[in-house]
Amino acid sequence: MAAKRIAPSVPLGALLLGAYLIDVVWAVFWSLGLDHFPAPGVEVPAPWSHGLTMACIWSVGSVALASLFTRNVRARLFFGVLVFSHWIVDFITQPMNAAFPGAGFRMRVFLSESPTIEGLGLYNSARVLNVVEYGTLVVGLAVYLHTVRRLKAAR
Ligand SMILES: [Zn+2]
Repeated sequence: MAAKRIAPSVPLGALLLGAYLIDVVWAVFWSLGLDHFPAPGVEVPAPWSHGLTMACIWSVGSVALASLFTRNVRARLFFGVLVFSHWIVDFITQPMNAAFPGAGFRMRVFLSESPTIEGLGLYNSARVLNVVEYGTLVVGLAVYLHTVRRLKAAR
């Protein structure tokens, strides 16, 4: 939601979609049986949606997708960066042993037999997960409400 402040011209729904697009892609590949839920013994649950190269492809693709909706080049690029930021957040927070006990979450650099990167595992602790998640939510909401009020006042 803090992204709303940077790009007030982009609808909130589009920002939320951008932030979670890689998980939407995950759901598509999951339904095809190519990506999986994080679970014990599954080392790389999501190679197609969450691989590093694939995340770059989804981000570039979403810039192209955004160009169907806006001529604003900055807004298009911003949308692409937002999509990629999901990968960075997952990299910092996964593997989430607090949410998926015993699960690994390595991310492929490319596809099939390529090297993998282990996430930093910020959410291995349930306490850290709660503090960061709810903290982010509260800060995001505050920034959003402040921006909406300011935009209204400017009108
Ligand atoms: Zn994800």
